[in-house]
Amino acid sequence: MGLTRQVLSVGQLTLLIKDLLWKEPVLRDLAVRGELSNFRHHTSGHLYFTLKDENSSLRGVMFRSHAMSLTFRPHDGLKVIATGHIGVYERDGSYQLYVRSLEPDGLGALYLALEQLKQRLEKEGLFDPSRKRRLPLLPRRVGVVTSLRGAAVRDIITVARRRLPNVSLVMADAIVQGADAPASIAQGLQLLAGVAGVDVIIVGRGGGSVEELWAFNDELVLRAVASCPVPVVAAVGHETDFTLVDLVADVRAATPSAAAEIAVPDRAVLERTIKQAASRMGLALVRRTQLARALWRRAVLSPALSRPHDRVHQHRQRLDELVRRLGLSAVRRVEQARARSRPAAFVARASREGGMREEPGDRPCRAVDPDLVSAYLLPGSPLARKFPRFEHRPQQVHMLQVVAETFNDGRVALVEAGTGTGKSLAYLLPAVCWAVANDAPVVLSTHTINLQEQLVEKDIPLLRHGLELPFRVAVLKGRGNYLCLHKWAELRRAGPMLLDEEEARWQARIVAWLAVSDTGDKAELNLPPRGEELWSLVDSDSDYCRGTDCLYRETCYVQTARRAAAQAHLVVVNHALLISDAVAGNLVLPAYRHLVLDEAHHLEDVAT
Ligand code: SF4
Repeated sequence: MGLTRQVLSVGQLTLLIKDLLWKEPVLRDLAVRGELSNFRHHTSGHLYFTLKDENSSLRGVMFRSHAMSLTFRPHDGLKVIATGHIGVYERDGSYQLYVRSLEPDGLGALYLALEQLKQRLEKEGLFDPSRKRRLPLLPRRVGVVTSLRGAAVRDIITVARRRLPNVSLVMADAIVQGADAPASIAQGLQLLAGVAGVDVIIVGRGGGSVEELWAFNDELVLRAVASCPVPVVAAVGHETDFTLVDLVADVRAATPSAAAEIAVPDRAVLERTIKQAASRMGLALVRRTQLARALWRRAVLSPALSRPHDRVHQHRQRLDELVRRLGLSAVRRVEQARARSRPAAFVARASREGGMREEPGDRPCRAVDPDLVSAYLLPGSPLARKFPRFEHRPQQVHMLQVVAETFNDGRVALVEAGTGTGKSLAYLLPAVCWAVANDAPVVLSTHTINLQEQLVEKDIPLLRHGLELPFRVAVLKGRGNYLCLHKWAELRRAGPMLLDEEEARWQARIVAWLAVSDTGDKAELNLPPRGEELWSLVDSDSDYCRGTDCLYRETCYVQTARRAAAQAHLVVVNHALLISDAVAGNLVLPAYRHLVLDEAHHLEDVAT
């Protein structure tokens, strides 16, 4: 008789297996170690994943009710220990692990959660140094959020009263450990932030285990600190303890006592600071008075007040000048009419009048050969070879020859050159050649300081490069462009008090600038908006200048610039300085025989 085999449906077999598995006590409550893969967080809140090791894999599911208690975010690749039971998923006829709890393997779940919270808040910018606020120098009231039964509060009170006996402390009693602590601390912060006069809050507690300090890692506390409207000092545990509140607070103190030292100023130090400030204010007042006196002296000594007749004489002189210019103008009109009949737009006029001083002794001059000088402007010349894009311009050569002949003859030439003539080179070349041949200066005057700088920084270096003729150049500006070392020393001696922020920054920039400047010329400084006003505190001016009595005479920037001008072949000035020097009796410019006025048509405006 053969055995009759029981035939089961798939469903019956699956139920049988499910029943057998359930009866096995080991499978009803077990912990499995493995690595998460295929992790899915379903919109329903359930978690689905596979646990695997080198040899096997096991499907797992964690339902929403359990998943809600997770303190970290599971992800693929994370090694975990899953606790639960083995059951059968009837639809697929597969067994899987139904997980009740999940914790990271190795690193504790608590620390992983902490690390993840830290990263999240960091991304939000809660630890950003730019969020940190400065603590008030003298708070009206100091708030303290801590347990009134702990040691920390006693330390804070003792230190605060020792530093400032009448300091006003406002306490908020808080639970500082355990499950209720985060809400209690956050509430304390909120309460004190609303108390009138509280300008800073200390939040913290004394030392304890990591678990006891854990409330200060809680997101609720961290967000309460971050949103607190007054600055917060964190003081949790000892020096070596670290919690996230240390990162969010405006200042971290190593201990509660240290927090009191940071938040409450020391009365003795305050008194000392006030005394020093008073004495510096006194010195600053002296400095301001000295400067005001100097300004007053300048006003009193100004020609308009001290020598009113000078004004009359100046106007008389001006009248003579206008008469002279009228004559020149007539000559120019004739020459212009003549020039219109010639192809080149240049006019040369022979005359020996006005504007130039003879050298002492009026020694004879060595002439320069106009053809030789103009050869520099011919294609293939040494100068042309230096510049690959050199362009031969007949009008430029013509102008150069006119200027060279004028230098030789000691005459006056009026030259009108159109745009693109290259007039700078046309007068610079003969000027340099004549000055070097005679070892005597030629003065070049431009309309503005900008043009003056363009000549010195661009045109003359190009010429020097191509000419291979050693010559010396000096730039001279009005003395107000140079820093007066004597004024500067007085300003520094008066001390830094009463300076506003901009003035203090400006002084710091001048200190740095003077360390590298050879000229003391304000053009090297990018003056701030109030620059001109501040510059008047240190500019050189003739009323204030101590002249030969000045301690700084040898290094004085004005004197240095004038000494350089006395030795130069080319002295580059602007019309304003030229005119003012002429009016003052030629005290600044060295004796010169030839003068080139670039953009001479502006001279009249400058003179008037
Ligand atoms: S010589 Fe005159 S300008 Fe020069 S540093 Fe002295 S006081 Fe100032």
